[in-house]
Amino acid sequence: MISVDEALERILSFVDVLEPEEKPVLDALGQVLAEDVASPIDVPPLDNTAMDGYAVRAADTETASTDQGVVLRVIGEVAAGYRFEGTVGPGEAVRIMTGAPVPAGADAIVPFEETDEAVPRPYGASPPPRDRVIVYKAARVGANIRRAAEDVRRGEVVMPAGTVLRPAQVGVAASLGRATVRVIRRPVVAVLSTGDELLEPGQAPEPGKIYDSNEYSVAAMVAEAGGIPRMLGIARDTPEALTAKIHEGLAVADLLVTSAGVSRGDYDVVKDVLAREGRVDFWTVRMKPGKPLAFGTFTAPGGRTVPHLGLPGNPVSSMVSFELFGRPAIYKMMGKPPPERRTVRAVCRDRIDNRDGRRVYARAIVTPQDGGYVAALTGPQGSGVLTSMALANAFVVVPEETDAVRPGDEVTAILLD
Ligand code: AMP
Ligand code: MG
Repeated sequence: MISVDEALERILSFVDVLEPEEKPVLDALGQVLAEDVASPIDVPPLDNTAMDGYAVRAADTETASTDQGVVLRVIGEVAAGYRFEGTVGPGEAVRIMTGAPVPAGADAIVPFEETDEAVPRPYGASPPPRDRVIVYKAARVGANIRRAAEDVRRGEVVMPAGTVLRPAQVGVAASLGRATVRVIRRPVVAVLSTGDELLEPGQAPEPGKIYDSNEYSVAAMVAEAGGIPRMLGIARDTPEALTAKIHEGLAVADLLVTSAGVSRGDYDVVKDVLAREGRVDFWTVRMKPGKPLAFGTFTAPGGRTVPHLGLPGNPVSSMVSFELFGRPAIYKMMGKPPPERRTVRAVCRDRIDNRDGRRVYARAIVTPQDGGYVAALTGPQGSGVLTSMALANAFVVVPEETDAVRPGDEVTAILLD
């Protein structure tokens, strides 16, 4: 048996970062930059006003007070998106709207609130034309002015290669005028179920058959991790059917994920076919659920090497195994740092036995209580009880060397959302 950490390390050693692609900025959300994004421009490009008001020379307003306003001559108006062509001279002001460039000669913005234009108007009503304004408060030089390049300086590398594009980074790329960015592409992950007992959801129930849930839960996890799932459907337990499906997957996928047929005891065509078609190892991993695991590589058309993750068949086992081994593989392909879920210490309400020295991932609900956390198991913990996963918001981790957790013991919980 190998440890969870050793299994992960071996798997990641066969997984490479994928190549870059050019994508529209919004479509690149969640992907990793494959280029240093430097700015071709200053942002903002010019000094501009942060307020609606009047562009003035601060010195002109020095003596202004609530009792004794200073009267300035209004020589024009400028809105965002336009430039005022003239120059603000002594005793003059330009009416200005938020975002508009500060006119030449002006060095401060007096907001409407500090002038005789403070009287609220009904929404949409335009102000009476005016040729003078009374300023009631002295303005500092630079007041309410956003400086050119205060956000980004031309030539600056704003986002280095390796940056994960979250919404703010998408916005920053757009603010530099970028319509597309170069990012590491998302992996296509072929997902395949195996077993004669499986029915497609939507089919009528049949005696002795169960619905294929692994393909759906695993494909959903692929999508959540940032990969592109390709559902290959169900391969029957015959060498021909399975071989055909594997070839179908290899033609399109960067990673092949199968479920079932990898446990030690059963004589299964899955194992034979995997071993014949690729270089596949069958492992027992010191974990519960999910002891059996297969991992290896196949050679796809054109000579590409495609890693293969063979998950156990039990629905909880396949999800836990994918969480521990599949998700990190997808992250690595996408150029992301390893996924790290938040962990908390929690007081466990239930007993959890660990008789054979494996690392246990018990499905639990963790809730805050008294400044800490408590963890309660989600009912029966059989590896076939998929609803135990659906109810859980955490895994309680019982280390290999702990033979039992008793009610009231403190445990580590991995938060799943
Ligand atoms: P196996 O590894 O083929 O022995 O399967 C282990 C258990 O998982 C058996 O009870 C299977 O019926 C079940 N199982 C296998 N594949 C799936 C699947 N795709 N969806 C739900 N259960 C499955
Ligand atoms: Mg089977």
